[in-house]
Amino acid sequence: MEKTFYLTTPIFYPNAKLHLGHAYTMTLADALIRYQRGAGKKTYFLAGSDENTQKMVDAAAKAGTEPMAFLDDIVKNFMKLYASLDISYDQFIRTTDTKVHWPGAQALWKRLDAAGDVYTKKYEGLYCVGHEAFVTEKDLVGGKCPDHGTEPEHLREENYFFRLSRYADVLKGKIESDELRLVPQSRKNEILSFIGDGLKDVSFSRPRRRGWPEGLGIPVPGDDSQIMYVWCDALANYITALGFGRDDALYREFWPADVHVIGKDILRFHAAIWPAMLLSAGLPLPKTIFVHGFITSGGKKMSKTLGNIIDPEELIETYGTDAVRYFLLRHISPFEDGDITREGFKDAYTANLTNGLGNLVARVMKLAETHLGESVARPEAAPFPREYSDMFDMFELNRAIDFVWGRIQALDERITREEPFRLVKKDPERGRALIGELVTELYWIARLLNPFMPETSEIIKRAVRENKKPENLFPRV
Ligand SMILES: [Zn+2]
Repeated sequence: MEKTFYLTTPIFYPNAKLHLGHAYTMTLADALIRYQRGAGKKTYFLAGSDENTQKMVDAAAKAGTEPMAFLDDIVKNFMKLYASLDISYDQFIRTTDTKVHWPGAQALWKRLDAAGDVYTKKYEGLYCVGHEAFVTEKDLVGGKCPDHGTEPEHLREENYFFRLSRYADVLKGKIESDELRLVPQSRKNEILSFIGDGLKDVSFSRPRRRGWPEGLGIPVPGDDSQIMYVWCDALANYITALGFGRDDALYREFWPADVHVIGKDILRFHAAIWPAMLLSAGLPLPKTIFVHGFITSGGKKMSKTLGNIIDPEELIETYGTDAVRYFLLRHISPFEDGDITREGFKDAYTANLTNGLGNLVARVMKLAETHLGESVARPEAAPFPREYSDMFDMFELNRAIDFVWGRIQALDERITREEPFRLVKKDPERGRALIGELVTELYWIARLLNPFMPETSEIIKRAVRENKKPENLFPRV
């Protein structure tokens, strides 16, 4: 069995506050990595931000702030949200980091260039700043980008291009054979059909514009008049974070990535452009790309106009970190779009956390505290149940947490059926033995809960160790 596990997450744009969708990506990733840690792997978990962007420069200008100060401030908020969600990342990479990120991005560029895959071409087209990309006449509605509501700029530039077209066939074969595994199957089909239509070479740099702030944008090796476009700048973070191009001890230990966790909107970048770059550079491909859906509210995309935005921080403040993690991981499908409403959240909280898990922990530990003289043997090192591990391997996190809830329910039913509180009075020896078994099972539940609800898991484990009923776990809201 492989002993290491490297997981990456998308580097988000620091041009605005993170929303529930970002919180979802990070929570999924965190549950996956905590499971691998619990299964005994040496793990590495990467988070970060994509900072060399026009969108960010515009947002900073709008806020009347210097770009770097603006970035520092937003990144602080990213980290604050991650801390309040208990996201256990090992490194937060910033693409403006000239020491950590730039040497590796430039080393990667040089490899692609040496492979004959970088060339210059005049380019003329419509550029949407919101997209950070060229768009076509066809994409526009009434002359404006339908996603951003702005008119694109007309640009004429000489740019470097990456010969993506060269890799379509090889890539198709590797995805078909699962050498590069795409999860779920529907995304695999989607990308195969996209690649099957042929791949066009992609614009790989842009001229350093007038007024573009110092310290932003990675210079193209050997041509200071150009800076790298998002592909080599941003995607490279997955290897530069490990020291590729500078001190590559971590790179040698952890690359290739075991999983890139991404949202469905960035599938093409990660499953076509990025692996093609790696092939060109002669570097190993990631093993799996896991693609999750979006979160809607009341069946609609969250938006200011609809007034249906649910702020992750607000939920955490009201219900606590683990309640938010619980909802996202159990009530949203990891593969399709999922829905959340305030009422739905509250109902799930009350039924499954307050009345469900919280009540069960209180019942069992009250019995233990009253009737057992000392703590019971704890199944600390036993391997996870096969069924549960398989669900993680298939990225079916909602089924894995359902599995835990199955055991919570079964334990509840056992208490109702076997009435330990009566038995312990009638036959103290047998009663205590039964209570011991209930506590052992509760400890198992705590272990299985760890990837999803790490703090709750720890509280339950401590309660069992100390043979003491914990404070009310999920108070009524
Ligand atoms: Zn746009």
